[in-house]
Amino acid sequence: MNKSFNWDNETDRCRIGATHITRIVDLDRQAFEPKIIFPAASGEVMQKKTANLNDHNFDQNTLVLFLSFHAYLVRIKNKTILVDMCLGNNKTRIERPIWHQRNGPFIENLKNAGVEPTDVDYVMCTHLHADHVGWNTKLLNGEWVPTFPNAEYIFSEKEYNHWRREDGRYSSEEQILHGSFYDSVMPIISSGQARLVPSNFNLGNGVHLEPAYGHTPGNIIIHIEDCQEHAILCGDTLHHPIQLDHPEWKTNFCSDPEQATLTRLNLLREYADTKTAILPAHFHSGDLGLISKDNGSYVLNKKLNTK
Ligand SMILES: [Zn+2]
Repeated sequence: MNKSFNWDNETDRCRIGATHITRIVDLDRQAFEPKIIFPAASGEVMQKKTANLNDHNFDQNTLVLFLSFHAYLVRIKNKTILVDMCLGNNKTRIERPIWHQRNGPFIENLKNAGVEPTDVDYVMCTHLHADHVGWNTKLLNGEWVPTFPNAEYIFSEKEYNHWRREDGRYSSEEQILHGSFYDSVMPIISSGQARLVPSNFNLGNGVHLEPAYGHTPGNIIIHIEDCQEHAILCGDTLHHPIQLDHPEWKTNFCSDPEQATLTRLNLLREYADTKTAILPAHFHSGDLGLISKDNGSYVLNKKLNTK
């Protein structure tokens, strides 16, 4: 089981059995004031040095946290899968200036990893927040169309139905999920490329979904298994490595922060000190891999994580 698990920072990828998982970056190192994400992150707490904080995910001088926005490219048994579709280009995100009208190199990054948009078989989103659906669509002649013309887009039915219902509460369509439901989800539904699935769903080929509610009402995590090796693409169940020091910290980004905390604690309890690689949606490459239990909190397992 993952005896030699190693996230290779040079190529930004790892192997799980014969499967390759590669990080395709959309936006690297966006800075966040800790309190924007975690209400309990006081200045005093942030001054403490911990093994989980490093120059890539934290600035010791300004005390800001950095988050990465990337997709995982999974090449498993001749299938090409993209998980969590980041921010996208040309999207109107008035309330999020850094995400607004972007012109980033995500597709070039994908091509550099050897994949053309036409090669993608499945697109999966752990949930439907704006930073996980952006590259679902691209702007073509003034219209939002699927970026991956041959892909089936796998959405949790519970998640989709939740935001569909929520939509009725907003006065204009631009407001729901910063506009992303209309520019990055509904065009996929209209195109006929969406497949709404139960939260427990086996896609086959060693890929299956599991409910991980709390961050959003239909949030799921994605298991990848090959040759008895195992990784979990756990989306926003963890936002930042500082949550390994403070796994009980609630976030401002969760629909149900209490449930999200229980889900996170369960994930950590179940997989700490195992050979399962934990690959969250916003961790940088140096922070990906195995997790160990450490006196009631958790630590990125650098020792096992290095060859
Ligand atoms: Zn996110």
